[in-house]
Amino acid sequence: MIAFFLNKSKYISGMEEHFTDSSICNTSCYSCLRSYQNRRFHPLLNWKLAVDTAFLLKEKKVDTLSIDWLEIVSNSLESLGKEFKKLKLNDFPAVQHERTGNIGVFSHPFLLRNKRHRAISLSMAHREAENRIDSEASIVHLDYFDIIHRPWKVAGYLYTGSI
Ligand SMILES: [Zn+2]
Repeated sequence: MIAFFLNKSKYISGMEEHFTDSSICNTSCYSCLRSYQNRRFHPLLNWKLAVDTAFLLKEKKVDTLSIDWLEIVSNSLESLGKEFKKLKLNDFPAVQHERTGNIGVFSHPFLLRNKRHRAISLSMAHREAENRIDSEASIVHLDYFDIIHRPWKVAGYLYTGSI
């Protein structure tokens, strides 16, 4: 995958180390996507999502559970605080709010999450979540972008149990 990207874009030459050590940049920096001209959008830029989009266009597939995503998501889940217990549901990262029992399941932004068209692997995670909650609690499906870029919204969803 790296070879595909290294000769394609003016942005790519400055971000070789992003592919070998994703901890260098969780979302975006001036070595990859940020510029003075796009400063209004800096909070929304995500190099990993940009690479996955390009890869999807070229290869028609994406590793939705790649270790790079899972590490960044895991670190972002830590920021929610101790009242959220981290879980793994069919390999998907998830958290359960201690007081409400609500569960948030996190998946790649390209995976279908709504009830009628949910990816099979995500449906299995949903079933595992159902086994962990009582009738008062809810399961909300969110994506990696939500937890990385908008953790305060994720916390709100998990308090209320709805999106
Ligand atoms: Zn970067």
